Amino acid sequence: LYNQVQDLKGNIRVYCRVRPCHQKQGSVSKIDEGSISLLVPSKNGKDGKKTFTFNRCFGPNSTQAEVFADTQPLIRSVLDGYNVCIFAYGQTGSGKTHTMSGPNNPDEETVGVNYRALRDLFLISEQRKDTIHYEIRVQMLEIYNETVRDLLSADDANLVPVQSTADVLSLMDLGFKNRAVSATAMNDRSSRSHSCLTVHVHGKDLTSGKTIRGSIHLVDLAGSERVDKSEVTGDRLKEAQHINKSLAALGDVISSLAQKQSHVPYRNSKLTQLLQDSLGGQAKTLMFVHIAPEQDAVVESISTLKFAERVSTI
Ligand code: ADP
Ligand code: MG
Repeated sequence: LYNQVQDLKGNIRVYCRVRPCHQKQGSVSKIDEGSISLLVPSKNGKDGKKTFTFNRCFGPNSTQAEVFADTQPLIRSVLDGYNVCIFAYGQTGSGKTHTMSGPNNPDEETVGVNYRALRDLFLISEQRKDTIHYEIRVQMLEIYNETVRDLLSADDANLVPVQSTADVLSLMDLGFKNRAVSATAMNDRSSRSHSCLTVHVHGKDLTSGKTIRGSIHLVDLAGSERVDKSEVTGDRLKEAQHINKSLAALGDVISSLAQKQSHVPYRNSKLTQLLQDSLGGQAKTLMFVHIAPEQDAVVESISTLKFAERVSTI
Protein backbone atom coordinates (compact mmCIF):
# COMPACT_ATOMS: atom_id res chain seq x y z
CA LEU A 1 0.00 0.00 0.00
CA TYR A 2 2.81 2.42 0.83
CA ASN A 3 4.18 2.08 -2.70
CA GLN A 4 0.75 2.51 -4.20
CA VAL A 5 0.33 5.73 -2.29
CA GLN A 6 3.82 6.85 -3.27
CA ASP A 7 2.70 6.44 -6.87
CA LEU A 8 -0.25 8.64 -6.21
CA LYS A 9 1.69 11.86 -6.83
CA GLY A 10 -0.21 13.75 -9.49
CA ASN A 11 -2.72 10.92 -9.75
CA ILE A 12 -6.18 10.55 -8.38
CA ARG A 13 -7.39 7.64 -6.34
CA VAL A 14 -11.05 6.93 -5.94
CA TYR A 15 -12.50 4.91 -3.09
CA CYS A 16 -16.16 3.97 -3.17
CA ARG A 17 -18.15 3.67 0.04
CA VAL A 18 -21.65 2.31 0.49
CA ARG A 19 -23.48 2.86 3.77
CA PRO A 20 -25.99 0.37 5.25
CA CYS A 21 -29.22 0.11 3.27
CA HIS A 22 -32.60 1.14 4.66
CA GLN A 23 -34.37 -1.49 2.56
CA LYS A 24 -34.27 -5.29 2.47
CA GLN A 25 -33.32 -5.32 -1.17
CA GLY A 26 -31.27 -2.35 -2.29
CA SER A 27 -29.64 -1.53 -5.62
CA VAL A 28 -26.21 -3.01 -4.86
CA SER A 29 -25.82 -6.60 -6.00
CA LYS A 30 -22.13 -7.07 -5.25
CA ILE A 31 -19.19 -5.27 -3.67
CA ASP A 32 -15.65 -6.58 -3.59
CA GLU A 33 -12.25 -4.98 -2.91
CA GLY A 34 -12.13 -3.10 -6.18
CA SER A 35 -15.53 -3.11 -7.83
CA ILE A 36 -19.20 -2.55 -7.23
CA SER A 37 -22.19 -3.84 -9.20
CA LEU A 38 -25.64 -2.27 -9.23
CA LEU A 39 -28.92 -3.82 -10.30
CA VAL A 40 -30.50 -1.54 -12.83
CA PRO A 41 -34.21 -2.09 -13.34
CA SER A 42 -35.39 -1.89 -16.91
CA LYS A 43 -38.85 -1.49 -18.38
CA ASN A 44 -39.03 -4.94 -19.97
CA GLY A 45 -38.78 -6.49 -16.51
CA LYS A 46 -35.33 -7.94 -16.99
CA ASP A 47 -32.92 -6.29 -14.57
CA GLY A 48 -29.55 -5.28 -15.94
CA LYS A 49 -26.29 -5.07 -14.05
CA LYS A 50 -23.69 -2.31 -14.15
CA THR A 51 -20.21 -2.77 -12.71
CA PHE A 52 -17.84 0.04 -11.75
CA THR A 53 -14.17 -0.30 -10.87
CA PHE A 54 -12.33 1.79 -8.27
CA ASN A 55 -9.06 1.69 -6.37
CA ARG A 56 -10.96 0.38 -3.38
CA CYS A 57 -14.58 -0.30 -2.42
CA PHE A 58 -15.97 -0.30 1.10
CA GLY A 59 -19.29 -1.95 1.87
CA PRO A 60 -21.80 -1.30 4.65
CA ASN A 61 -19.82 -3.35 7.18
CA SER A 62 -16.58 -1.42 6.77
CA THR A 63 -15.68 0.49 9.91
CA GLN A 64 -14.36 4.04 10.15
CA ALA A 65 -11.01 2.58 11.23
CA GLU A 66 -10.83 0.31 8.17
CA VAL A 67 -11.68 3.17 5.84
CA PHE A 68 -9.04 5.34 7.46
CA ALA A 69 -6.36 2.64 7.36
CA ASP A 70 -6.20 2.94 3.58
CA THR A 71 -5.96 6.72 3.84
CA GLN A 72 -3.27 6.89 6.50
CA PRO A 73 -0.16 6.88 4.24
CA LEU A 74 -1.46 10.05 2.60
CA ILE A 75 -1.60 11.78 5.96
CA ARG A 76 1.98 10.82 6.72
CA SER A 77 3.12 12.35 3.43
CA VAL A 78 1.77 15.76 4.48
CA LEU A 79 4.54 15.85 7.09
CA ASP A 80 7.05 15.05 4.34
CA GLY A 81 5.97 18.17 2.46
CA TYR A 82 3.19 17.02 0.16
CA ASN A 83 -0.10 18.75 -0.57
CA VAL A 84 -3.01 16.37 -0.19
CA CYS A 85 -6.70 16.71 -0.99
CA ILE A 86 -9.38 14.36 0.26
CA PHE A 87 -12.95 14.82 -0.98
CA ALA A 88 -16.25 13.27 -0.01
CA TYR A 89 -18.59 13.19 -2.99
CA GLY A 90 -22.15 11.89 -3.29
CA GLN A 91 -25.81 12.78 -3.04
CA THR A 92 -27.30 14.13 0.18
CA GLY A 93 -27.80 11.30 2.67
CA SER A 94 -25.19 9.00 1.09
CA GLY A 95 -22.70 9.25 3.99
CA LYS A 96 -20.21 12.03 3.11
CA THR A 97 -20.32 13.68 6.52
CA HIS A 98 -20.19 10.27 8.20
CA THR A 99 -16.93 9.49 6.41
CA MET A 100 -15.31 12.86 7.05
CA SER A 101 -16.66 13.78 10.51
CA GLY A 102 -18.57 10.76 11.81
CA PRO A 103 -22.06 10.90 13.31
CA ASN A 104 -23.15 13.65 15.73
CA ASN A 105 -21.15 13.33 18.96
CA PRO A 106 -18.85 10.62 17.62
CA ASP A 107 -16.92 8.35 19.96
CA GLU A 108 -13.46 6.80 19.61
CA GLU A 109 -14.77 4.21 17.14
CA THR A 110 -17.03 6.37 15.01
CA VAL A 111 -14.88 9.50 14.52
CA GLY A 112 -14.24 10.21 10.88
CA VAL A 113 -11.28 10.93 8.62
CA ASN A 114 -10.85 14.58 9.71
CA TYR A 115 -10.17 13.84 13.34
CA ARG A 116 -8.13 10.70 12.60
CA ALA A 117 -5.99 12.66 10.14
CA LEU A 118 -5.19 15.37 12.68
CA ARG A 119 -4.54 12.81 15.39
CA ASP A 120 -1.99 11.14 13.10
CA LEU A 121 -0.34 14.45 12.25
CA PHE A 122 0.20 15.18 15.96
CA LEU A 123 1.34 11.63 16.66
CA ILE A 124 3.94 11.58 13.91
CA SER A 125 5.18 15.10 14.62
CA GLU A 126 5.65 14.02 18.23
CA GLN A 127 7.63 10.94 17.11
CA ARG A 128 9.89 13.18 15.01
CA LYS A 129 10.29 15.97 17.54
CA ASP A 130 14.01 15.36 18.17
CA THR A 131 14.82 15.96 14.50
CA ILE A 132 12.04 18.17 13.14
CA HIS A 133 10.02 20.90 14.77
CA TYR A 134 6.51 21.10 13.31
CA GLU A 135 3.91 23.84 13.52
CA ILE A 136 0.35 22.88 12.65
CA ARG A 137 -2.35 25.41 11.77
CA VAL A 138 -5.93 24.86 10.71
CA GLN A 139 -8.64 26.67 8.82
CA MET A 140 -12.31 25.89 8.27
CA LEU A 141 -14.09 27.35 5.29
CA GLU A 142 -17.52 27.04 3.77
CA ILE A 143 -18.32 27.76 0.14
CA TYR A 144 -21.94 28.64 -0.37
CA ASN A 145 -23.25 30.11 -3.64
CA GLU A 146 -19.66 30.77 -4.78
CA THR A 147 -18.94 32.80 -1.64
CA VAL A 148 -16.21 31.69 0.74
CA ARG A 149 -16.85 32.12 4.45
CA ASP A 150 -14.41 31.53 7.29
CA LEU A 151 -16.03 29.34 9.94
CA LEU A 152 -13.46 30.01 12.64
CA SER A 153 -13.32 33.78 12.71
CA ALA A 154 -14.54 37.00 11.16
CA ASP A 155 -11.28 37.37 9.24
CA ASP A 156 -10.98 35.70 5.91
CA ALA A 157 -8.77 32.68 5.48
CA ASN A 158 -7.62 32.68 9.06
CA LEU A 159 -5.07 30.05 10.11
CA VAL A 160 -5.34 29.01 13.73
CA PRO A 161 -2.33 27.36 15.41
CA VAL A 162 -3.14 24.09 17.17
CA GLN A 163 -1.09 22.08 19.66
CA SER A 164 -3.22 19.02 20.25
CA THR A 165 -6.24 17.06 19.11
CA ALA A 166 -8.17 18.71 21.95
CA ASP A 167 -7.52 22.11 20.34
CA VAL A 168 -8.72 20.73 17.04
CA LEU A 169 -11.88 19.28 18.53
CA SER A 170 -12.85 22.59 20.09
CA LEU A 171 -12.19 24.41 16.81
CA MET A 172 -14.25 21.87 14.87
CA ASP A 173 -17.01 22.45 17.39
CA LEU A 174 -16.83 26.20 16.82
CA GLY A 175 -16.85 25.66 13.06
CA PHE A 176 -19.93 23.44 13.29
CA LYS A 177 -21.72 25.99 15.46
CA ASN A 178 -20.91 28.82 13.06
CA ARG A 179 -22.15 26.69 10.21
CA ALA A 180 -25.32 25.84 12.12
CA VAL A 181 -26.20 29.50 12.59
CA SER A 182 -26.89 29.77 8.90
CA ALA A 183 -28.29 26.24 8.68
CA THR A 184 -31.37 27.04 10.77
CA ALA A 185 -32.08 30.11 8.69
CA MET A 186 -31.54 28.32 5.42
CA ASN A 187 -32.96 24.86 6.18
CA ASP A 188 -29.99 22.51 6.22
CA ARG A 189 -27.62 24.63 4.28
CA SER A 190 -24.85 22.14 5.13
CA SER A 191 -25.92 19.81 2.35
CA ARG A 192 -25.87 22.67 -0.12
CA SER A 193 -22.47 24.11 0.69
CA HIS A 194 -18.96 22.72 0.50
CA SER A 195 -17.05 22.65 3.74
CA CYS A 196 -13.31 22.45 3.88
CA LEU A 197 -11.00 21.76 6.79
CA THR A 198 -7.48 22.75 5.80
CA VAL A 199 -4.36 21.89 7.76
CA HIS A 200 -1.05 23.58 7.09
CA VAL A 201 2.11 21.96 8.35
CA HIS A 202 5.37 23.83 8.64
CA GLY A 203 8.40 21.80 9.69
CA LYS A 204 11.91 22.87 10.47
CA ASP A 205 14.71 20.33 10.38
CA LEU A 206 16.67 20.96 13.56
CA THR A 207 20.03 19.89 12.12
CA SER A 208 19.96 21.14 8.53
CA GLY A 209 17.67 24.11 9.15
CA LYS A 210 15.68 23.11 6.06
CA THR A 211 11.97 23.82 6.05
CA ILE A 212 9.16 21.51 4.99
CA ARG A 213 5.73 22.75 3.97
CA GLY A 214 2.77 20.47 3.48
CA SER A 215 -0.98 20.80 3.58
CA ILE A 216 -4.13 18.79 3.54
CA HIS A 217 -7.63 19.81 2.49
CA LEU A 218 -10.45 17.68 3.84
CA VAL A 219 -13.55 18.53 1.86
CA ASP A 220 -17.16 17.55 2.54
CA LEU A 221 -18.77 18.51 -0.76
CA ALA A 222 -22.31 19.76 -1.31
CA GLY A 223 -24.84 17.08 -2.26
CA SER A 224 -24.37 16.03 -5.88
CA GLU A 225 -28.02 15.19 -6.59
CA ARG A 226 -29.55 16.63 -9.72
CA VAL A 227 -32.25 19.09 -8.88
CA ASP A 228 -35.23 19.14 -11.17
CA LYS A 229 -35.13 22.69 -12.48
CA SER A 230 -38.83 22.65 -13.23
CA GLU A 231 -39.57 22.08 -9.55
CA VAL A 232 -37.43 24.65 -7.79
CA THR A 233 -37.32 28.41 -8.03
CA GLY A 234 -35.64 31.39 -6.41
CA ASP A 235 -32.91 30.77 -3.83
CA ARG A 236 -33.17 27.01 -4.15
CA LEU A 237 -32.63 27.17 -7.91
CA LYS A 238 -29.70 29.53 -7.49
CA GLU A 239 -28.10 27.16 -4.95
CA ALA A 240 -28.61 24.19 -7.26
CA GLN A 241 -27.01 26.01 -10.16
CA HIS A 242 -23.99 27.01 -8.06
CA ILE A 243 -23.55 23.46 -6.82
CA ASN A 244 -23.83 21.97 -10.31
CA LYS A 245 -21.37 24.46 -11.66
CA SER A 246 -18.77 23.91 -8.96
CA LEU A 247 -19.00 20.10 -8.96
CA ALA A 248 -18.75 20.12 -12.75
CA ALA A 249 -15.71 22.40 -12.48
CA LEU A 250 -14.14 20.01 -9.97
CA GLY A 251 -14.83 17.06 -12.26
CA ASP A 252 -13.29 18.92 -15.19
CA VAL A 253 -10.15 19.80 -13.22
CA ILE A 254 -9.65 16.29 -11.90
CA SER A 255 -10.31 14.59 -15.22
CA SER A 256 -8.00 16.95 -17.10
CA LEU A 257 -5.32 16.16 -14.51
CA ALA A 258 -6.03 12.46 -14.85
CA GLN A 259 -5.57 12.74 -18.61
CA LYS A 260 -2.40 14.82 -18.12
CA GLN A 261 -3.76 17.68 -20.17
CA SER A 262 -1.62 20.81 -20.28
CA HIS A 263 -4.45 23.24 -19.55
CA VAL A 264 -6.26 22.66 -16.27
CA PRO A 265 -9.39 24.83 -15.84
CA TYR A 266 -8.93 25.85 -12.19
CA ARG A 267 -10.55 29.26 -12.58
CA ASN A 268 -14.08 28.03 -13.24
CA SER A 269 -15.19 27.85 -9.60
CA LYS A 270 -14.30 29.08 -6.11
CA LEU A 271 -13.76 25.48 -5.02
CA THR A 272 -11.15 24.68 -7.67
CA GLN A 273 -9.46 28.06 -7.18
CA LEU A 274 -9.19 27.42 -3.46
CA LEU A 275 -7.71 23.96 -3.99
CA GLN A 276 -5.50 24.80 -6.97
CA ASP A 277 -2.18 24.23 -5.20
CA SER A 278 -3.37 20.90 -3.88
CA LEU A 279 -4.67 19.44 -7.12
CA GLY A 280 -2.21 18.33 -9.75
CA GLY A 281 1.55 18.72 -9.83
CA GLN A 282 3.10 16.85 -6.93
CA ALA A 283 -0.18 16.85 -5.01
CA LYS A 284 -2.02 13.70 -4.00
CA THR A 285 -5.77 13.46 -4.38
CA LEU A 286 -8.24 10.98 -2.97
CA MET A 287 -11.97 11.02 -3.60
CA PHE A 288 -14.41 9.05 -1.49
CA VAL A 289 -17.44 8.51 -3.64
CA HIS A 290 -20.61 7.62 -1.74
CA ILE A 291 -23.86 6.16 -2.96
CA ALA A 292 -27.18 5.62 -1.24
CA PRO A 293 -27.93 1.91 -1.79
CA GLU A 294 -31.73 2.22 -1.82
CA GLN A 295 -33.51 1.16 -4.98
CA ASP A 296 -35.16 4.54 -5.57
CA ALA A 297 -31.74 6.23 -5.64
CA VAL A 298 -30.34 3.99 -8.37
CA VAL A 299 -30.42 6.58 -11.17
CA GLU A 300 -28.57 9.06 -8.96
CA SER A 301 -26.13 6.32 -7.89
CA ILE A 302 -25.26 5.47 -11.47
CA SER A 303 -24.65 9.10 -12.32
CA THR A 304 -22.47 9.42 -9.18
CA LEU A 305 -20.41 6.34 -10.07
CA LYS A 306 -20.01 7.50 -13.66
CA PHE A 307 -18.69 10.83 -12.42
CA ALA A 308 -16.27 9.00 -10.15
CA GLU A 309 -15.06 6.72 -12.93
CA ARG A 310 -14.49 9.74 -15.13
CA VAL A 311 -12.14 11.34 -12.58
CA SER A 312 -10.26 8.17 -11.69
CA THR A 313 -7.01 7.15 -13.31
CA ILE A 314 -7.36 3.38 -13.21
P1 ADP B 1 -24.40 13.17 3.74
O1 ADP B 1 -23.39 13.94 4.51
O2 ADP B 1 -23.86 12.59 2.47
O3 ADP B 1 -25.67 13.94 3.50
P2 ADP B 1 -24.59 11.60 6.16
O4 ADP B 1 -23.17 11.37 6.43
O5 ADP B 1 -25.26 12.68 6.95
O6 ADP B 1 -24.84 11.89 4.61
O7 ADP B 1 -25.33 10.20 6.32
C1 ADP B 1 -26.74 10.06 6.28
C2 ADP B 1 -27.18 9.13 7.40
O8 ADP B 1 -26.64 7.83 7.26
C3 ADP B 1 -26.71 9.62 8.76
O9 ADP B 1 -27.70 9.33 9.71
C4 ADP B 1 -25.47 8.80 9.01
O10 ADP B 1 -25.19 8.68 10.39
C5 ADP B 1 -25.80 7.48 8.35
N1 ADP B 1 -24.58 6.82 7.81
C6 ADP B 1 -23.87 7.27 6.78
N2 ADP B 1 -22.83 6.45 6.49
C7 ADP B 1 -22.89 5.45 7.39
C8 ADP B 1 -22.10 4.27 7.64
N3 ADP B 1 -21.03 3.98 6.89
N4 ADP B 1 -22.47 3.46 8.65
C9 ADP B 1 -23.56 3.75 9.39
N5 ADP B 1 -24.34 4.84 9.23
C10 ADP B 1 -24.02 5.69 8.24
MG1 MG C 1 -23.47 15.97 5.06
